[in-house]
Amino acid sequence: MAIDSSISPSASQAAALIRDTGARLTQPRTLVLACLLDQSEPLTHHDILQRLPGEGFDAVTLYRVLEWLTEQGLAHRIAGADQVWHFSADPQREGHAHAHFHCTVCDAVTCITDVPLPRKLKLPAGYAAEEVELLIKGRCPRCAP
Ligand SMILES: [Zn+2]
Ligand SMILES: [Zn+2]
Repeated sequence: MAIDSSISPSASQAAALIRDTGARLTQPRTLVLACLLDQSEPLTHHDILQRLPGEGFDAVTLYRVLEWLTEQGLAHRIAGADQVWHFSADPQREGHAHAHFHCTVCDAVTCITDVPLPRKLKLPAGYAAEEVELLIKGRCPRCAP
């Protein structure tokens, strides 16, 4: 099936980002990345499947596409306090360079780009850091008392 990148600005942005990787442009990759680009909040597998009804791809395809986008640096994933992965588009490929917030009331996970991660962590001898995550738990503005 041909990919009509004129459908939406995010679909054409997604197609351009995927073409930049040199990899094959497939409809599931374009649709999933466009879906993430359209959302300001990170989405779970379940959220994405619900937002792409009738596109004819299953949970396994979605899983593979999300893995691929993460490997390419076009998306980043955050484990919420519920240990469910949440995915966010990363068109600038900045990685996990910011904190995330998990609302304990509505379970929404939000990228807090205003809160950068500590650049240098002093670790005991023999420890080599590969990834730093900062997850803040609490109540989001919608759920504040
Ligand atoms: Zn909330
Ligand atoms: Zn984020």
